[in-house]
Amino acid sequence: MPQARCNCGAITVEAASAPKDPILCYCSNCQRSSAGLCSVNYIFQKPDVQIHDPSGALRSYRDGDTRSGNVLTRQFCGVCGSPVSTLLSDDSPIIVIKAGLFDGPLPEPIDEVWTESKAAWMKIVKQERGERAMLS
Ligand SMILES: [Zn+2]
Ligand SMILES: [Zn+2]
Repeated sequence: MPQARCNCGAITVEAASAPKDPILCYCSNCQRSSAGLCSVNYIFQKPDVQIHDPSGALRSYRDGDTRSGNVLTRQFCGVCGSPVSTLLSDDSPIIVIKAGLFDGPLPEPIDEVWTESKAAWMKIVKQERGERAMLS
């Protein structure tokens, strides 16, 4: 089973199947919460993912200042600060898991959202040969 973890290892995530088809989100809130260019997200059905938090390190932040107007719950490790997951709403069947928690190469993203706040110099280059995706 594919496993993922935060930097300090207090929180681990177990997925029922290999994660695939990441989606990049460039919204300002994701840029701030990742302190980076975007968040890289895997979408899972809630029953297909288990978050293990034996020491109670997982913290939640209700993010209501979103461009969509939706109130998201952003979950992160309270020890090391790694973003872990985002819940769209309490009754949503979907959970977003941050792709960087998983070991191994990141599959090529299938989509990107809120591109109006994407850095103008950032583009995804898919090379004709070698099937290599490169962020530049
Ligand atoms: Zn941690
Ligand atoms: Zn976002």
